[in-house]
Amino acid sequence: MAIKTIKDVDLAGKRVLVRCDFNVPLKEGEITDDSRIEAALPTIQHLVSQSAKVILCSHLGRPKGQQVADMSLAPVAEALSSKLKQPVTFIEDCIGPAVEEEVQKIGEGEIALIENVRFYPGEESNDPDFAASLGELADAYVNDAFGTAHRAHASTEGVTNHLSPCVSGFLIEKELAYLGEKTANPERPFTVILGGAKVSDKIKVIDALLEKADTIIIGGAMAYTFALAEGRRVGESLSEPDFIETAKSALEKAKAKGVKFLLPLDNLGVKELDFKAGTFSDSDFFEGNIEDGFEGVDIGPKSIELFKNEVASAKTVLWNGPMGIFEIDSCNKGTFAVAEAVAQSDAISIIGGGDSVKAIKMSGFSDSVTFMSTGGGASLEFLEGKVLPGVEALDKKS
Ligand code: AMP
Repeated sequence: MAIKTIKDVDLAGKRVLVRCDFNVPLKEGEITDDSRIEAALPTIQHLVSQSAKVILCSHLGRPKGQQVADMSLAPVAEALSSKLKQPVTFIEDCIGPAVEEEVQKIGEGEIALIENVRFYPGEESNDPDFAASLGELADAYVNDAFGTAHRAHASTEGVTNHLSPCVSGFLIEKELAYLGEKTANPERPFTVILGGAKVSDKIKVIDALLEKADTIIIGGAMAYTFALAEGRRVGESLSEPDFIETAKSALEKAKAKGVKFLLPLDNLGVKELDFKAGTFSDSDFFEGNIEDGFEGVDIGPKSIELFKNEVASAKTVLWNGPMGIFEIDSCNKGTFAVAEAVAQSDAISIIGGGDSVKAIKMSGFSDSVTFMSTGGGASLEFLEGKVLPGVEALDKKS
């Protein structure tokens, strides 16, 4: 059922606790990628324009319930303030009487950011007392942190028992629209491209998407387990022999449902790969079997052609997972070719989070895709059809 968003409720004059995802990368106190801060701005600006009293919260890193100075959100308050061109008060704790006193001072249209909620163990354990203490800070609640919506933590789930209304921000609304509605009732043909390391990580996504897609394309190391299932040899490639039967079932299901299931026609194989140095001693392209001693690291030119043609005729494309070890320059051609094909197609293009977002940004085509998910694990769980606790806890539209 559809959930309420900040557009469905009147938050004027209310103290609103907003769960953001400010889990930004930091190097010596400097934010090295501020895209998560940028992504949070529309919701914050909307709340300010509605004269809400805005109290932002987030986690940063994995402080494991301890106060860790390096994981303070203070640099985020500064960055927000300069982007929003208005002061953002940083409050040096996230619960307790001193914080409650501070949030009372926030006026309409003003903003404060409280300290990292994971500085308390009660955040991740969803401790009811910690959730109640967070609830003391505000009247209403907005969740806009899709990346943690698959976790029932105090600031994503527990706190909703103490605040009302509880609605989503624009980011979560968009995630649900693209990863949910646009893939549930897609414009057809609907082509799904899945890659990455392990079949075991993505088999539930494959299963769920076999119900919706017209074509499923498999690349990355995942393809080698499927190759084993088809009786081919994969040399030293990363594969999961324990999941050969699972891969076989997926192939059979695709056949039974009339879903086109495309595996790579050829692969780039290398010998003695040194991941850190990005080097190898020998390389070759293999059609069919990969020779012993070689490890598959990317899809080859024939696969690129096949996959590009398939993407070109799609009306909806969903992509999750790289086609090879894209972190290494000489193994990234397949991934970047897919990125280009997805970006250049006229289809609704949805990038399903994690490494594919990184890859499409590296390829320089990120401006041309329709939607890039901000979640990694959350995107996958949502695509699997799982209920996300941080979304489930929000008010439903009647
Ligand atoms: P995932 O998180 O499952 O999307 O996997 C992403 C990771 O899969 C990246 O770090 C890639 O380097 C890795 N990967 C993709 N293709 C291969 C391959 N052929 N061999 C080893 N690792 C791969």
